[in-house]
Amino acid sequence: MSLRIVVCVKYVPDATGDRHFADDLTVDRDDVDGLLSELDEYAVEQALQIAEEADEAEVTVITVGPEDAKDALRKALSMGADKAVHVEDEDLHGSDVMGTSLVLAKAIEKTGYDVVIAGMASTDGTMGVLPAILAERLGVPQVTLLSEVKIEDGKVIGRRDGDTASEQLEASLPAVVSVTDQSGEARYPSFKGIMAAKKKPVESLELSDLDIEADEVGLEAAWTAVDSATERPARTAGTIVKDEGEGGKQLAEFLASQKFI
Ligand SMILES: Cc1cc2nc3c(=O)[nH]c(=O)nc-3n(C[C@H](O)[C@H](O)[C@H](O)COP(=O)(O)OP(=O)(O)OC[C@H]3O[C@@H](n4cnc5c(N)ncnc54)[C@H](O)[C@@H]3O)c2cc1C
Repeated sequence: MSLRIVVCVKYVPDATGDRHFADDLTVDRDDVDGLLSELDEYAVEQALQIAEEADEAEVTVITVGPEDAKDALRKALSMGADKAVHVEDEDLHGSDVMGTSLVLAKAIEKTGYDVVIAGMASTDGTMGVLPAILAERLGVPQVTLLSEVKIEDGKVIGRRDGDTASEQLEASLPAVVSVTDQSGEARYPSFKGIMAAKKKPVESLELSDLDIEADEVGLEAAWTAVDSATERPARTAGTIVKDEGEGGKQLAEFLASQKFI
Protein backbone atom coordinates (compact mmCIF):
# COMPACT_ATOMS: atom_id res chain seq x y z
CA MET A 1 0.00 0.00 0.00
CA SER A 2 1.18 3.51 -0.79
CA LEU A 3 2.81 5.40 2.10
CA ARG A 4 0.88 8.65 2.60
CA ILE A 5 3.22 11.43 3.68
CA VAL A 6 1.77 14.85 4.53
CA VAL A 7 4.14 17.79 4.95
CA CYS A 8 3.05 20.97 6.79
CA VAL A 9 4.51 24.01 5.08
CA LYS A 10 4.00 27.60 6.15
CA TYR A 11 3.99 30.73 4.01
CA VAL A 12 5.82 33.41 6.00
CA PRO A 13 6.61 37.10 5.45
CA ASP A 14 10.03 37.59 3.85
CA ALA A 15 12.37 38.44 6.75
CA THR A 16 14.45 40.68 4.48
CA GLY A 17 11.41 42.86 3.69
CA ASP A 18 9.78 45.60 5.78
CA ARG A 19 7.32 43.92 8.14
CA HIS A 20 4.50 45.57 10.07
CA PHE A 21 1.65 44.89 12.42
CA ALA A 22 -1.85 45.68 11.13
CA ASP A 23 -4.22 47.92 13.13
CA ASP A 24 -5.56 44.93 15.11
CA LEU A 25 -1.93 44.04 16.07
CA THR A 26 -1.87 40.91 13.93
CA VAL A 27 0.98 40.47 11.48
CA ASP A 28 0.26 42.38 8.27
CA ARG A 29 0.38 39.55 5.73
CA ASP A 30 -1.22 41.46 2.84
CA ASP A 31 1.35 44.17 2.41
CA VAL A 32 4.53 42.13 2.38
CA ASP A 33 6.13 39.54 0.12
CA GLY A 34 6.19 36.02 1.47
CA LEU A 35 7.85 32.70 0.85
CA LEU A 36 7.96 29.08 1.96
CA SER A 37 9.41 29.07 5.50
CA GLU A 38 13.04 27.98 4.99
CA LEU A 39 12.85 25.53 7.89
CA ASP A 40 9.97 23.76 6.16
CA GLU A 41 12.18 23.05 3.13
CA TYR A 42 13.98 20.52 5.36
CA ALA A 43 10.64 18.82 6.06
CA VAL A 44 9.86 18.62 2.33
CA GLU A 45 13.35 17.22 1.68
CA GLN A 46 12.96 14.47 4.28
CA ALA A 47 9.52 13.60 2.92
CA LEU A 48 10.93 13.26 -0.59
CA GLN A 49 13.82 11.09 0.61
CA ILE A 50 11.44 8.81 2.54
CA ALA A 51 9.20 8.59 -0.55
CA GLU A 52 12.21 7.68 -2.73
CA GLU A 53 13.12 4.85 -0.33
CA ALA A 54 9.55 3.49 -0.14
CA ASP A 55 8.09 0.99 -2.62
CA GLU A 56 5.20 3.33 -3.23
CA ALA A 57 4.53 6.72 -1.65
CA GLU A 58 2.66 9.95 -2.16
CA VAL A 59 3.77 13.31 -0.74
CA THR A 60 1.06 15.90 -0.06
CA VAL A 61 2.02 19.39 1.10
CA ILE A 62 -0.49 21.37 3.11
CA THR A 63 -0.72 24.97 4.22
CA VAL A 64 -3.15 27.14 6.16
CA GLY A 65 -2.69 30.62 4.86
CA PRO A 66 -3.83 33.47 2.63
CA GLU A 67 -4.20 33.36 -1.17
CA ASP A 68 -0.49 34.01 -1.71
CA ALA A 69 0.39 30.96 0.38
CA LYS A 70 -0.07 29.03 -2.89
CA ASP A 71 3.49 30.23 -3.69
CA ALA A 72 4.81 28.12 -0.80
CA LEU A 73 2.87 25.11 -2.08
CA ARG A 74 4.21 25.62 -5.63
CA LYS A 75 7.78 25.72 -4.32
CA ALA A 76 7.27 22.42 -2.47
CA LEU A 77 5.60 20.90 -5.55
CA SER A 78 8.52 22.04 -7.71
CA MET A 79 10.92 20.34 -5.28
CA GLY A 80 9.03 17.09 -6.01
CA ALA A 81 5.89 16.77 -3.85
CA ASP A 82 2.94 15.16 -5.66
CA LYS A 83 -0.02 17.29 -4.64
CA ALA A 84 -1.08 20.12 -2.37
CA VAL A 85 -3.88 21.21 -0.07
CA HIS A 86 -4.54 24.90 0.63
CA VAL A 87 -6.85 25.92 3.47
CA GLU A 88 -7.95 29.49 3.07
CA ASP A 89 -10.84 31.30 4.72
CA GLU A 90 -11.34 34.92 5.73
CA ASP A 91 -12.43 33.77 9.21
CA LEU A 92 -8.89 32.44 9.81
CA HIS A 93 -7.57 35.97 10.23
CA GLY A 94 -5.88 36.28 13.63
CA SER A 95 -5.86 32.53 14.41
CA ASP A 96 -3.09 31.55 16.82
CA VAL A 97 -1.39 28.16 17.11
CA MET A 98 -4.52 26.60 18.64
CA GLY A 99 -6.71 27.65 15.71
CA THR A 100 -4.08 26.82 13.12
CA SER A 101 -3.46 23.35 14.58
CA LEU A 102 -7.20 22.63 14.67
CA VAL A 103 -7.53 23.49 10.98
CA LEU A 104 -4.43 21.50 10.03
CA ALA A 105 -5.61 18.45 12.03
CA LYS A 106 -9.01 18.41 10.32
CA ALA A 107 -7.51 18.95 6.87
CA ILE A 108 -4.89 16.22 7.43
CA GLU A 109 -7.57 13.78 8.63
CA LYS A 110 -9.59 14.55 5.51
CA THR A 111 -6.54 14.06 3.27
CA GLY A 112 -5.49 10.79 4.94
CA TYR A 113 -1.96 10.17 6.23
CA ASP A 114 0.49 7.64 7.60
CA VAL A 115 3.10 10.19 8.63
CA VAL A 116 2.96 13.97 9.00
CA ILE A 117 6.26 15.85 8.72
CA ALA A 118 6.65 19.45 9.90
CA GLY A 119 9.52 21.88 10.29
CA MET A 120 11.13 22.49 13.69
CA ALA A 121 9.60 26.00 13.85
CA SER A 122 8.26 28.57 11.47
CA THR A 123 10.59 31.46 10.68
CA ASP A 124 7.96 34.05 11.71
CA GLY A 125 6.09 32.74 14.76
CA THR A 126 8.96 30.41 15.82
CA MET A 127 6.88 28.81 18.57
CA GLY A 128 8.01 25.31 17.61
CA VAL A 129 4.95 23.80 19.27
CA LEU A 130 2.58 23.22 16.39
CA PRO A 131 3.73 19.64 15.64
CA ALA A 132 3.18 18.59 19.27
CA ILE A 133 -0.30 20.15 19.42
CA LEU A 134 -1.12 18.62 16.05
CA ALA A 135 -0.15 15.13 17.28
CA GLU A 136 -2.34 15.60 20.34
CA ARG A 137 -5.29 16.70 18.20
CA LEU A 138 -4.80 13.74 15.83
CA GLY A 139 -4.33 11.36 18.77
CA VAL A 140 -1.09 9.90 17.40
CA PRO A 141 2.51 9.73 18.70
CA GLN A 142 4.90 12.63 18.11
CA VAL A 143 8.62 12.30 17.43
CA THR A 144 9.93 15.85 17.27
CA LEU A 145 13.15 17.69 16.46
CA LEU A 146 14.76 14.85 14.53
CA SER A 147 18.04 15.36 12.71
CA GLU A 148 17.77 11.94 11.08
CA VAL A 149 14.55 10.17 10.11
CA LYS A 150 13.50 7.01 8.29
CA ILE A 151 10.41 4.82 8.00
CA GLU A 152 10.83 1.08 8.50
CA ASP A 153 8.38 -1.76 9.20
CA GLY A 154 5.46 0.53 9.98
CA LYS A 155 7.54 2.66 12.34
CA VAL A 156 9.19 6.06 12.20
CA ILE A 157 12.74 5.89 13.54
CA GLY A 158 14.89 8.95 14.19
CA ARG A 159 17.68 10.63 16.06
CA ARG A 160 17.24 13.74 18.20
CA ASP A 161 20.47 15.55 19.04
CA GLY A 162 20.57 17.45 22.32
CA ASP A 163 23.37 19.48 23.91
CA THR A 164 24.67 16.58 25.95
CA ALA A 165 23.26 13.44 24.33
CA SER A 166 21.65 12.03 21.21
CA GLU A 167 18.46 10.04 21.56
CA GLN A 168 17.34 7.27 19.23
CA LEU A 169 13.54 7.40 19.04
CA GLU A 170 10.83 5.41 17.36
CA ALA A 171 7.06 5.41 17.16
CA SER A 172 4.47 3.33 15.36
CA LEU A 173 2.65 4.89 12.41
CA PRO A 174 0.56 6.94 12.05
CA ALA A 175 2.70 9.62 13.70
CA VAL A 176 3.73 13.26 13.57
CA VAL A 177 7.39 14.11 13.05
CA SER A 178 9.29 17.38 13.03
CA VAL A 179 12.77 17.73 11.57
CA THR A 180 15.56 20.20 12.26
CA ASP A 181 17.84 22.18 9.97
CA GLN A 182 20.49 19.49 10.63
CA SER A 183 18.47 16.80 8.83
CA GLY A 184 20.08 17.40 5.43
CA GLU A 185 20.28 20.18 2.84
CA ALA A 186 17.03 20.77 0.97
CA ARG A 187 17.21 20.26 -2.80
CA TYR A 188 16.75 23.13 -5.26
CA PRO A 189 13.81 22.81 -7.63
CA SER A 190 15.02 21.83 -11.10
CA PHE A 191 13.66 23.53 -14.24
CA LYS A 192 11.78 20.31 -15.00
CA GLY A 193 10.38 20.32 -11.45
CA ILE A 194 9.20 23.93 -11.78
CA MET A 195 7.41 23.16 -15.05
CA ALA A 196 5.88 19.92 -13.66
CA ALA A 197 4.62 21.75 -10.54
CA LYS A 198 2.32 23.92 -12.67
CA LYS A 199 0.27 20.83 -13.54
CA LYS A 200 0.14 19.21 -10.10
CA PRO A 201 -3.20 19.31 -8.25
CA VAL A 202 -3.82 21.93 -5.53
CA GLU A 203 -7.00 21.29 -3.55
CA SER A 204 -8.59 24.38 -1.95
CA LEU A 205 -10.54 23.96 1.27
CA GLU A 206 -12.57 26.37 3.39
CA LEU A 207 -13.57 26.04 7.04
CA SER A 208 -17.01 24.70 6.06
CA ASP A 209 -15.32 21.81 4.17
CA LEU A 210 -13.70 20.84 7.48
CA ASP A 211 -16.78 21.23 9.72
CA ILE A 212 -15.09 24.05 11.61
CA GLU A 213 -17.21 26.94 12.83
CA ALA A 214 -15.90 30.50 12.42
CA ASP A 215 -15.90 31.05 16.20
CA GLU A 216 -13.48 28.14 16.74
CA VAL A 217 -10.67 30.04 14.97
CA GLY A 218 -9.61 33.62 14.31
CA LEU A 219 -8.63 36.43 16.63
CA GLU A 220 -11.59 36.04 19.02
CA ALA A 221 -10.83 32.35 19.64
CA ALA A 222 -7.08 32.87 20.03
CA TRP A 223 -5.57 31.88 23.38
CA THR A 224 -2.85 34.50 22.96
CA ALA A 225 -3.13 38.23 22.29
CA VAL A 226 -0.73 41.02 21.44
CA ASP A 227 -1.40 43.94 23.84
CA SER A 228 0.86 46.50 22.21
CA ALA A 229 3.58 46.86 19.61
CA THR A 230 6.16 49.59 19.17
CA GLU A 231 8.04 50.44 15.98
CA ARG A 232 11.76 49.77 16.15
CA PRO A 233 13.55 53.14 16.54
CA ALA A 234 15.21 54.43 13.35
CA ARG A 235 18.92 53.65 13.09
CA THR A 236 21.24 56.43 14.20
CA ALA A 237 24.14 57.56 12.01
CA GLY A 238 26.79 55.71 14.06
CA THR A 239 30.27 56.85 15.07
CA ILE A 240 33.22 56.76 12.69
CA VAL A 241 36.63 56.34 14.28
CA LYS A 242 39.37 57.77 12.04
CA ASP A 243 42.73 56.15 12.68
CA GLU A 244 45.40 58.80 12.92
CA GLY A 245 47.63 56.81 15.23
CA GLU A 246 45.18 56.67 18.17
CA GLY A 247 42.44 54.63 16.42
CA GLY A 248 42.75 51.53 18.62
CA LYS A 249 42.58 53.59 21.81
CA GLN A 250 39.59 55.57 20.57
CA LEU A 251 37.83 52.36 19.59
CA ALA A 252 38.43 50.86 23.04
CA GLU A 253 37.19 54.06 24.70
CA PHE A 254 34.05 54.03 22.56
CA LEU A 255 33.33 50.38 23.38
CA ALA A 256 33.92 51.05 27.08
CA SER A 257 31.58 54.07 26.99
CA GLN A 258 28.86 51.81 25.56
CA LYS A 259 29.65 49.18 28.24
CA PHE A 260 30.58 46.58 25.58
CA ILE A 261 33.95 46.01 27.28
C1 LIG B 1 -3.93 34.00 7.73
C2 LIG B 1 -3.31 33.74 9.07
C3 LIG B 1 -3.37 34.71 10.06
C4 LIG B 1 -2.80 34.48 11.29
N1 LIG B 1 -2.86 35.44 12.26
C5 LIG B 1 -2.27 35.20 13.47
C6 LIG B 1 -2.31 36.16 14.51
O1 LIG B 1 -2.85 37.23 14.34
N2 LIG B 1 -1.74 35.85 15.70
C7 LIG B 1 -1.13 34.64 15.93
O2 LIG B 1 -0.62 34.39 17.02
N3 LIG B 1 -1.07 33.73 14.95
C8 LIG B 1 -1.62 33.98 13.74
N4 LIG B 1 -1.60 33.02 12.76
C9 LIG B 1 -1.06 31.74 13.08
C10 LIG B 1 0.42 31.75 13.11
O3 LIG B 1 0.95 32.42 11.99
C11 LIG B 1 0.97 30.35 13.16
O4 LIG B 1 0.59 29.57 12.03
C12 LIG B 1 0.59 29.57 14.37
O5 LIG B 1 0.52 30.38 15.48
C13 LIG B 1 1.66 28.50 14.60
O6 LIG B 1 2.75 29.10 15.24
P1 LIG B 1 4.18 29.07 14.62
O7 LIG B 1 4.19 29.61 13.25
O8 LIG B 1 5.08 29.71 15.61
O9 LIG B 1 4.39 27.50 14.54
P2 LIG B 1 5.60 26.59 14.90
O10 LIG B 1 5.15 25.72 16.01
O11 LIG B 1 6.86 27.37 15.05
O12 LIG B 1 5.64 25.77 13.53
C14 LIG B 1 6.24 24.50 13.43
C15 LIG B 1 5.86 23.90 12.11
O13 LIG B 1 4.44 23.77 12.03
C16 LIG B 1 4.04 23.94 10.66
N5 LIG B 1 3.13 25.10 10.53
C17 LIG B 1 3.02 26.18 11.34
N6 LIG B 1 2.07 27.01 10.87
C18 LIG B 1 1.57 26.44 9.75
C19 LIG B 1 0.58 26.82 8.80
N7 LIG B 1 -0.10 27.96 8.92
N8 LIG B 1 0.34 25.99 7.76
C20 LIG B 1 1.02 24.82 7.62
N9 LIG B 1 1.99 24.42 8.48
C21 LIG B 1 2.25 25.22 9.53
C22 LIG B 1 5.31 24.13 9.85
O14 LIG B 1 5.77 22.88 9.42
C23 LIG B 1 6.26 24.71 10.89
O15 LIG B 1 7.62 24.52 10.57
C24 LIG B 1 -2.15 33.24 11.54
C25 LIG B 1 -2.06 32.28 10.54
C26 LIG B 1 -2.64 32.51 9.32
C27 LIG B 1 -2.53 31.45 8.29
